[in-house]
Amino acid sequence: MSQAAGKEAVLYVKEGDRVKCTACPRYCKIPQGKIGFCGIRGNVDGRLFLFVYGKVIAANVDPIGKKPVMHYAPGSWVYSIATTGCNFMCQFCQNFDISQRRKVEGVDMNPREVVENAQKTNCQGVAYTYNEPSIFLEFARDCGVLARKKGLFNVFVSNGYGTPESVGMMKEFLDCITVDFKGNAELKFVRRYIGIPDPQPIFDTIREIRDKTNIHIELTDLVVPEVGDNLEEAKKLAKFVYDELGPDMPIQFLRFYPDYKMMDYAPTSIEMLEKHYEVAKSAGLRYVYVGNVPGHKWSHTYCPGCNSMVVGRFGAFITKWELDKNNRCSKCGYQIPIIGQLKEPLFNFRFA
Ligand code: SF4
Repeated sequence: MSQAAGKEAVLYVKEGDRVKCTACPRYCKIPQGKIGFCGIRGNVDGRLFLFVYGKVIAANVDPIGKKPVMHYAPGSWVYSIATTGCNFMCQFCQNFDISQRRKVEGVDMNPREVVENAQKTNCQGVAYTYNEPSIFLEFARDCGVLARKKGLFNVFVSNGYGTPESVGMMKEFLDCITVDFKGNAELKFVRRYIGIPDPQPIFDTIREIRDKTNIHIELTDLVVPEVGDNLEEAKKLAKFVYDELGPDMPIQFLRFYPDYKMMDYAPTSIEMLEKHYEVAKSAGLRYVYVGNVPGHKWSHTYCPGCNSMVVGRFGAFITKWELDKNNRCSKCGYQIPIIGQLKEPLFNFRFA
């Protein structure tokens, strides 16, 4: 690894001749010349460097619904970037080629160029996604501060495995975060299939974001068949969401598709996703969704006041919008907690 690559990180402290990274709860204590677990932060002469600063391995223009974000900037487009590396080792990762690469690779793109590209492609926001953005937080922060100056918003698609220090930096620029639980964040599952010792830091990070920032939060949960679809665990997760974040917190149960080291598993059954939906609804959550199943009746938003469909969706796209200019239900006036007005004209899909 080139010692000249990247930029000195901010999220670290010195401990003797080691550097302790504070960007994620692994808190790697890295000796001189070595790299941390994620493969992209390392000790160079007693200073922690972020080697992927300004190195973008993937850049795409995506609808925000693909992140998937349901209740923020509806219908907008986001310039989506990633670097190599990750602090998780998900056995089912759909982006494993990026996330599990322990090499600094990609196209040189400084924060000014990231923002210019977002503007040139008519995006309204920048998304930091595909791998875990907390590991390249200093780069995301510099992009995000500039993006805000140009009137763009910033979104993290995150595993939520953060620290008080990382949340402190998110606060400087981040508008929205969608935290993806996997397998209901059950202990055995996260140890075996994600490679983290304990899911607790994810819950702590969500509380920290709730208490210390104004960042809009949404949640997803990847339901992995056989090994990560325990309904008792789903109940515990739903209770946490209701108790700590309230009934209006959106949560989406995502369908798993076989990938990476879990090619022998079938996609999650629709029935199992629906059972998760019912568990969350029974816990009192108002905005529960089934995701990765285009056209599913529970991919839409229903008004808790009169039960009519107020936002229709097909995959990542919005196909129906029955809210007034204040995002109240056009039938009964119930206030739907969606931030922002629809940005794009409706897609004209038909529902069977
Ligand atoms: S961000 Fe990387 S280097 Fe830092 S603690 Fe996490 S895994 Fe270790």
